Amino acid sequence: MSKRILVTGGSGFLGSHLCERLLAKGHEVLCVDNYFTGRRTNVAHLLSNSGFELLRHDVTFPLYAEVDEIYNLACPASPVHYQFDPVQTTKTSVHGAINMLGLAKRVQAKIFQASTSEVYGDPAVHPQTEDYWGRVNPIGPRSCYDEGKRCAETLFFDYRRQHGLRIKVARIFNTYGPRMHPNDGRVVSNFIVQALKGVPITLYGDGRQTRSFCFVDDLVEGFLRLMDTPDEVTGPVNLGNPYEFSILELAEKVLELTGSRSEIVYRPLPENDPIQRQPDISKAKDLLDWKPTVQLEEGLSRTIAYFEVVLRGKPGG
Ligand code: NAD
Ligand code: UDP
Ligand code: UDP
Repeated sequence: MSKRILVTGGSGFLGSHLCERLLAKGHEVLCVDNYFTGRRTNVAHLLSNSGFELLRHDVTFPLYAEVDEIYNLACPASPVHYQFDPVQTTKTSVHGAINMLGLAKRVQAKIFQASTSEVYGDPAVHPQTEDYWGRVNPIGPRSCYDEGKRCAETLFFDYRRQHGLRIKVARIFNTYGPRMHPNDGRVVSNFIVQALKGVPITLYGDGRQTRSFCFVDDLVEGFLRLMDTPDEVTGPVNLGNPYEFSILELAEKVLELTGSRSEIVYRPLPENDPIQRQPDISKAKDLLDWKPTVQLEEGLSRTIAYFEVVLRGKPGG
């Protein structure tokens, strides 16, 4: 059955892929974004679809719309961007969640929250399972994002307990793919853009810190499956790729796949940069019958192909 679905942050990297998938399934999509880190070009190809509507709006302000489902993705995700205006980042997570939950309550919509592995902070448990409460600095440079997202989760569960809302909370681990902003600042886009431009690859710290990267198509499939679970399934559910590797290995893989001769330069490790991160996705496997299918090399190749076109279109990047 066709539904009317609100996607906040819909013009961003993940949001644009989600809007595309929902439209392909025959739903109507209301995409809401304030273009802080998102771009209209990410959804330009959807504008001719009669089921697609685009609205410039900041989720820290109330929004009145009639919808069946809400995917709440609005929030800058890259450390560079969420630390640019940290107060606004917390407001987006917290006031944005309150407004979207208030909307969901009024229209009895089912609501999905794009939470994050950052709720685990610099984890003392490895790999991270959903019952781990995390190790988060409440007053550091990453706190606006981490604590904002933690508070949003609290709000989601309180709206469920207090008002009976149907909620779905996904804890997303590092994800990459086409439509990341060339100046996004996160590691995959940074390394690919640097390699393609032939400028030095900036490795923070000694490069031995680890991450696990999921390709965007796999992640969006996980979103859709979680939204479609029975009402008693609330999450939080980890969504990500458990394949873990060091950031140095990532730099070397990007150099290999691009054929670039960029040198690797070492820069200081940012404060509170987690040393290791890997999702335990047993819950997603059980509840959603989901696991990532795109291997790192294939995902990187598809992302490199995207950035080759983007950089060719804009001389000098
Ligand atoms: P992104 O920066 O590309 O997208 C975020 C979108 O939200 C942008 O389009 C931005 O303009 C919009 N936005 C920001 N503040 C807003 C506001 N106040 N009102 C309306 N729109 C606003 O990042 P992304 O990677 O697509 O992330 C999407 C969501 O997924 C975020 O909530 C992020 O925290 C979460 N997430 C992403 C990852 C990842 O690796 N990509 C990992 C964990 C969590
Ligand atoms: N809200 C919104 N759209 C709606 C309904 C509510 O943006 O359709 C916002 C409104 O600004 C409100 C917030 O959501 O402050 C929380 O709503 P709720 O009904 O939970 O609380 P209250 O209205 O009592 O503050
Ligand atoms: N990183 C890096 N060079 C860059 C950007 C990031 O070495 O140009 C490192 C960063 O310090 C971190 C890892 O790559 O250890 C992942 O960083 P990202 O910002 O992508 O995500 P997060 O730290 O939020 O997982």
